[in-house]
Amino acid sequence: MKTIIEPFKIKSVEPIRFTTKEERIKLIKDAGYNPFMLHADDVLIDLLTDSGTSAMSSKQWAGIMDGDESYAGSKSFYRFEETVKKITGLKYIIPTHQGRAAEKILFSVVGGKGKFIPNNTHFDTTRANVEFTGAEAVDLLNEAGKHPEIRADFKGNMDVKKLEEFIIKTGRENIPLCMITVTNNSGGGQPVSMQNIKDVKQVCKKFDIPLFIDACRFAENAYFIKRREPGYSNKSVLEIAQEMFSYADGATMSAKKDALVNIGGFLALNDENIAQQCRNLLIVTEGFPTYGGLAGRDLEAVAQGLEEILDEHYLQYRIRSIEYLGEKLVASGVPIIEPPGGHAIYLDAKRFLPNIPSENFPGQAIVCELYIEGGIRSVEIGSVMFGKYDDNGKLIPPPMELVRLAIPRRVYTQSHIDYVFEIILEVFNKRKALKGYKIVYEAPMLRHFTAQFEPII
Ligand SMILES: *Cc1c(COP(=O)(O)O)cnc(C)c1O
Repeated sequence: MKTIIEPFKIKSVEPIRFTTKEERIKLIKDAGYNPFMLHADDVLIDLLTDSGTSAMSSKQWAGIMDGDESYAGSKSFYRFEETVKKITGLKYIIPTHQGRAAEKILFSVVGGKGKFIPNNTHFDTTRANVEFTGAEAVDLLNEAGKHPEIRADFKGNMDVKKLEEFIIKTGRENIPLCMITVTNNSGGGQPVSMQNIKDVKQVCKKFDIPLFIDACRFAENAYFIKRREPGYSNKSVLEIAQEMFSYADGATMSAKKDALVNIGGFLALNDENIAQQCRNLLIVTEGFPTYGGLAGRDLEAVAQGLEEILDEHYLQYRIRSIEYLGEKLVASGVPIIEPPGGHAIYLDAKRFLPNIPSENFPGQAIVCELYIEGGIRSVEIGSVMFGKYDDNGKLIPPPMELVRLAIPRRVYTQSHIDYVFEIILEVFNKRKALKGYKIVYEAPMLRHFTAQFEPII
């Protein structure tokens, strides 16, 4: 097979700034050993997130110029609405400034104390918005999805049997809707199969519970279905996406992922009554229903991005570039979540640094070292992000200690990825010399953003 190349040429470039290792040792210390606190300009390769970091195409930039800024009834809104309808088949399309705004509005309407929202795995903003209303967010991921070393095609699948048992135990009247997140971001960007979406829908239908898709990475998920699920190899990604959404009664989406834009999102649904209530809230918190917290030009860029994301040359390159980095790491013995998901590589810090216990944050040790060694910014997804304390102040670690290297869309080339591999390998080769960290400051909530650390000497 020939090399899968970047399916674009570069018209506009943004220089990246080189620093020396000595400078980075000081910069990360000044940042309290928390890469969130670094100035982006001091980062060489930024793999903190794939959210809002996409490179827009020349057509998207042209759309920015062409955007219609009318307060009401902008032509950019109608183009956006038509594109979302074409892909999702859903009736009511409500633009929001990003994914969490769609979640906030939806759960303000359907959530509340005593309610439960099941999902394969709630993304952190989804969980926060469910729980902010007093409702409970419940994860029902299949067993394989919980084990980094198990290779399976659809590790994002929901456990359908558990879902049914959960509904029976909880009572359908306490479950305003069921969600499924494609791909499963918090579980390693792992895809969900069409069969699983169908099975989940069937259970939901049996109990008359609407099914909503958290659609941030719907195109990456559709491409995995095309590649891995029997019966789909000859279907277009658009057709596959349309089938996925045909089982849904609604969707939330952060356009900062698979709509290739830097800001935007939407809520889409079929229930007229709920749509009306959501629009009423939208007017209070986001804006008029034909712009919802965005400029007309943003809607234009989202519409164009949603067309481009379905290009199979793009998706082949996208999925391949992550798989390529994964293959190189696995071949060198570096432990990662296998197989790699759609948007990121997750290093398994527990196996990478078995001698550093959760209390000393092995993921954070890797994150700091990747920056010091090569100017790469990544993020810990383990005890720093999700750790809790028991009554005696002892850390209760989450099941996995991970480091996420999220790959921005259309931003880095193969040589950047090769460089990332070389740096990870360098850090891996000196792993026995790495030391853990302790927290010296933490906020009461979402501490990973602002926590300050010190190395344990
Ligand atoms: C990013 C993301 C969200 C939230 O979207 P924002 O645009 O960041 O508010 C929700 N769900 C998933 C799965 C995500 O990846």
